[in-house]
Amino acid sequence: MKTIIEPFKIKSVEPIRFTSREEREEILKKAGYNPFLIHADDVIIDLLTDSGTSAMSAKQWAGIMEGDESYAGSKSFYRFEKMVKKITGMKHIIPTHQGRAAEKILFSITGGQGKFFPNNTHFDTTRANIEFSKAEAYDLLNEVGKHPEIRADFKGNMDTVALENFILQKGKENIPLCMITITNNSGGGQPVSIENIRETKKVCSKYGIPLFIDACRFAENAYFIKKREKGYQDKSILQIAQEIFSYADGVTMSAKKDALVNIGGFLALNDDSLAMNCRNLLIVTEGFPTYGGLAGRDLEAMAQGLEEILEESYLQYRVRSVEYLGEKLLSAGVPIIEPPGGHAIYIDAKRFLPDVLPEYFPGQAIVCALFLEGGIRTVEIGSVMFGKYDENGKLIAPPMELVRLAIPRRVYTQSHIDYVSEVVIDVFNKRESLKGFKIVYQAPMLRHFTALFEPL
Ligand SMILES: *Cc1c(COP(=O)(O)O)cnc(C)c1O
Repeated sequence: MKTIIEPFKIKSVEPIRFTSREEREEILKKAGYNPFLIHADDVIIDLLTDSGTSAMSAKQWAGIMEGDESYAGSKSFYRFEKMVKKITGMKHIIPTHQGRAAEKILFSITGGQGKFFPNNTHFDTTRANIEFSKAEAYDLLNEVGKHPEIRADFKGNMDTVALENFILQKGKENIPLCMITITNNSGGGQPVSIENIRETKKVCSKYGIPLFIDACRFAENAYFIKKREKGYQDKSILQIAQEIFSYADGVTMSAKKDALVNIGGFLALNDDSLAMNCRNLLIVTEGFPTYGGLAGRDLEAMAQGLEEILEESYLQYRVRSVEYLGEKLLSAGVPIIEPPGGHAIYIDAKRFLPDVLPEYFPGQAIVCALFLEGGIRTVEIGSVMFGKYDENGKLIAPPMELVRLAIPRRVYTQSHIDYVSEVVIDVFNKRESLKGFKIVYQAPMLRHFTALFEPL
């Protein structure tokens, strides 16, 4: 088997500004040791997120010029609508400016006090929009998904037994919809099997509850199904995606992921009256239903991106390049969530720095060391992001302390990834010298974005 190469050539480049270790020391200090406060042009390799950071294709840029900016009935909308209908089979396609805008509209209408929403794992904006409506969000991930060191094919699966118990306990009339997130972003970018989606749908149908799919990484998930699930080897990515969505009653999507664009999203629905209510709210908060908070050119770029994401050579390269980084790290003994997911590598900070207690933020210590050593920007997903405190001010840590290395789509080449692995391994080899951090400033909500730290 030959090396799997990037299935594209580079037409336009963006320079990287190199910094010295001394400069990075200053930069980190000035940013209060928070990667979100570092200026992007001070970063050598930016693995903060895969959201909105994709490189667009020549055809997408051509689409930007072609975009029809008519207020109503733009031809770019109809191209976008046709593409989303082809993939999802949904009746109503409602564009939004990004994923959370689709969530905000959906949960403003379906949520509210006394309502409960199950999901394999809610993404943080999904949870925030549910809770903002005063409803409650529950994660019902299958057991194997909760163990970083266990290798399994579909660690994003919903626990369908727990789902049925949940419905019986909360009452089907209090559950407006059930959601399944593909791939499971917060759980390591792990895929969900078609069998599990079918099983989830069966449980939902038994109680008359609609099933929604959070489809941000549907194509990466479909590729894992093709590679790992029996009976799907000879199906195209489009066919697999169509089957996935055939079990759904609605879809939310952030196009900043698997539609290969820098901004965009949509809500897709089958139910006529829900769609009418959503469109009415869309007009108040986003815009007219044929542009929904976007420019015509954005709709054009999304339509084209959705075509390109279905190409198997792209997905093969995509999944392989993430796995390649994972293999390099594993062979040096660096503990990560196994197997590698579709869009990111997650370092297990608890095993990487066993002597730094969650109180002292082991993930943050690794994030800072990666920047200092190699100018690589990553993000902590652990006690900084999700830590809560009891009445005595003692930290209630989340189950996992992780550092996410999210890989932007079509942006970095194999040598960039080699460099990343060298830096991570270097930091791992001197892990004994890493110290924890303390927080010196934090906002009351979503503190990870703006908190300031000091090294211990
Ligand atoms: C990014 C993301 C969202 C929210 O989308 P935005 O475009 O960032 O608002 C929702 N769900 C999942 C799984 C995501 O990864």
